[in-house]
This record gives sequence, C-alpha cells and structure tokens, in this order.
Amino acid sequence: MKKVLILATGGTIACHTGEGGMVPQSAPPALMGALGAFEKYYELTYRVILNLDSSNIQPEEWQLIARAVYEALPEYDGVVITHGTDTMAYTASMLAFMLQDLDKPVVFTGSQIPIESPLSDAQSNLATALAAIEHNVVGVTIAFNHKLVRGCRAVKVRTMGFDAFESVNSLNRGEFFADGVRLLTDRVEPNGDRCVLKDRLSTDVFLLKLIPGTNPAILDKLAEMGYRGIVLETFGAGGLHYLRRDLSEPVKRLVEAGVAVVLCSQCLYEQSDFSLYEVGRRILATGALQGFDMTTEAAVTKLMWALGQTDDLNEIRQIFSTNYAGEITI
Ligand code: ASP
Repeated sequence: MKKVLILATGGTIACHTGEGGMVPQSAPPALMGALGAFEKYYELTYRVILNLDSSNIQPEEWQLIARAVYEALPEYDGVVITHGTDTMAYTASMLAFMLQDLDKPVVFTGSQIPIESPLSDAQSNLATALAAIEHNVVGVTIAFNHKLVRGCRAVKVRTMGFDAFESVNSLNRGEFFADGVRLLTDRVEPNGDRCVLKDRLSTDVFLLKLIPGTNPAILDKLAEMGYRGIVLETFGAGGLHYLRRDLSEPVKRLVEAGVAVVLCSQCLYEQSDFSLYEVGRRILATGALQGFDMTTEAAVTKLMWALGQTDDLNEIRQIFSTNYAGEITI
C-alpha cells in the first residue's frame, strides 16, 4: 500500500456555502468521508497547513507549502496537495522550481464544486491524484478531470467547466480511460540526486500585458517602484510597438539598470520567437530574455525563483536557457 500525505490548503474542494459565500473548511465531513473510503487502497495521512481560497495564496504560502512537502517527502511515497483551482497553476509551477531533482510524485488537486455537493468532481479528482502516486508519476502534476497535467505547463482555462486545466505546449502526463491509464514518461527523468529545496524567491516581479498603445512610461514607473523582474506579454509570435510609443527604449534602460525582462506572447499556444519580425528583433537587441513556449504562469514563477537565486543578469539568462521541470522546450 502506498503511503500518501494529503496536505490541505483550502479551495472549493473544502468549501461550505454559507451566507457570506463559499468559504473553505479545514476538515469538511464529506472530505473526511471520501478519504476514509480511499483508505482501503492507500495509507493516508491528512494534514491541514492552510485554509484559504487560492486567491489568497501568495509567495509566502508557496514557500510554506514547498517546505511542508520537502519535509514530508522522505516519509511518504507521494504527496497530494488539495488547493483552490484559481491559482493552482502558479503554485504548482513554483513548486516545480523550488523542489529541485524531485524524485517522487507531488500532485495538486481540487474541484470546481465543493465535495459536500452530490454533483462534485472532487471525489474523482482525488482518485486521479492518488492514482498518480500509485503509478509513481514523478514530479509536480495537477490531477483534474481524469488527466494529469505537468504543473509548470498547466493553465486554468475554464471558470465553470470540469475540464478546467489544460497542458499548454506539452502532452498530458497521463489520461485515465475506462480501460485504464495512459501515461507519458517524463522528459525530465530524475537523475538520482536527492531532492533539494530551493525556496528563495523575489516578489518584485510584475506581469504587464500590452495593449496597442500602451504608454511606455509605465516601464520606467515599474523600475522606480523597485521591480527587479518584468514579464511582458506581447503580441503574436513576438512583437511590440515602437512607432509613436516606443516600448523598446525603456526596456533597454531597464535591462541596463539590471532589471530582468522576459518576453512572452499573449497567444496561449505554441512558441514565441522574437527573432522573426523586425518589431521583435528591436526588443531582443535590448538584452531582454525570451520565454519561448513557456506559459505566462511558468515564466512569472521562474523569474521570481531565478531572482531569488541570483542578482546577476547573466545567471538569470542561464536559468532561462535551462529546462528544470519540463517547463520549456529547448
Ligand atoms: N476560488 C476557489 C479557489 O481557487 C476556486 C476553486 O477552488 O475552484 O480557492
């Protein structure tokens, strides 16, 4: 029997609907009941480390969750983290960076409907998460709607539908069918090293989604506010305007001042390439880094994590040209 730690952090899965709206409970009876039923197949330990809507889960909570997982890993075959779906992709992505050389399954799950409701998807999502541990799917994944999505490739794409997560620019790690499970092996195989916790990060990262006509002065303002890293969501395969409102000059100033700027696309699918168009090459000449096919969630968390490891822009560049957990195709 696999030994599994369930770390509860809140989210809809644990919610009760009261007069003030849905609020997570630390040990809702329906969740305890569902886990009781799974105890026939797994040795489960339930631990509440947070009790929050995931909108309130921020970098401090990422560190707390990563530390709880890291400390528990030697004792268990895997860890399931119940978590709100709204920011689950960010937490999963950050944990994929913080838990270096992870050699066991760490599986996030949650639900679109509280477990106390008869229509809830919680039970099957929990079953999928536990099956990921049964099948030793190493690394950080999200178990949802009978799929396993790599944590650092996940994006929440639906507010209401049960198929809430998509694996962007990467195949699902696993899919469950009536006749069994189809698993993909990890492209980032464990290398035999012991898992290391690297939980330092910088919160001084800003995500700016451009619109046609964005005022370039916003970039200098961000530097004045002390931001050390900026992710720019730009247009299409890789472009941003320089006519009348030149965005490349302030980016150049930022890079010269030691701010790390990462260029991503507003398109969800496929990779950006800023060397294709003249409007992209101008920005590449500033020394900004490319996010290629990373999700915005992965680019933001990777930048926060990278800035927690070093201040040196060359080292940040090196980190962005390294694939740590399957977050980027290099
Ligand atoms: N607002 C909830 C949360 O993210 C949504 C969910 O869990 O599905 O905590």
